[in-house]
Amino acid sequence: MVDVLDTALRVAEQNGGKKVTKITLKIGLMSGIMPEYVQSFFDVISKDSIAKGAEIIIEPDPAVFICRKCGEKTTYEVLGPEYVCEDCGSAALRMLSGHGFQIVNVGII
Ligand SMILES: [Zn+2]
Repeated sequence: MVDVLDTALRVAEQNGGKKVTKITLKIGLMSGIMPEYVQSFFDVISKDSIAKGAEIIIEPDPAVFICRKCGEKTTYEVLGPEYVCEDCGSAALRMLSGHGFQIVNVGII
């Protein structure tokens, strides 16, 4: 999250922005980041910067797995107690996406 602040401030600086108003983040389901805490954490780390009060918008990024057994893809929108192939029930899955974290957009004025 500190990286997010740094990046937002850099974008604002490069574009002559006076204030960061909005930051859109894409957060993977399996990234280990709890979306509900992102805004409050950001508020704390940004309080002495021009990004103070910026609204954090989160785009969820579901986890997509591919089955090692049958090759089918399974998508999980929510964290589960376990992850199994929808098609054959195998737990031998490889994650294709959903562990990432990226800044989609920074809004400045
Ligand atoms: Zn399968």
